[in-house]
Amino acid sequence: MKRKPTPTPAPDCPCGSTLPLMQCCQPILNGQQAAPTAEALMRSRYTAYVLKDVHWLLASWHSRTRPAELDLAADDSRWLGLTVHEHQQQDADHATVRFTARYKVGGRAWRLHERSRFEREAGLWVYVDGEQDPAA
Ligand SMILES: [Zn+2]
Repeated sequence: MKRKPTPTPAPDCPCGSTLPLMQCCQPILNGQQAAPTAEALMRSRYTAYVLKDVHWLLASWHSRTRPAELDLAADDSRWLGLTVHEHQQQDADHATVRFTARYKVGGRAWRLHERSRFEREAGLWVYVDGEQDPAA
């Protein structure tokens, strides 16, 4: 009897969706697929932080608020997980997403609470800015 190699399971997407990365944020990061909602875009940006995909982080930033450059090479944050609490769409082109991201720096665990604002720019959802530690 011949043994079949066990297929390596596809890694789960870092955004916590429980879908494989290839069926979740990867096509958005690669530009193969547009984020259908602001929440999907927000998840893809979290995944981009995990994968240090600076290209996608800048590409998914509104041209009005995008930083000139972003350097994550020296950033030793280890992202531990994402929880999306609320996704509210104000109208066709404006939405907010409230979330908590957990990460570790230098052995200490931190939580980032943020309410991010998203807009459609040229038909695509992009990140505008965020308010940290929102009251609600
Ligand atoms: Zn994902």
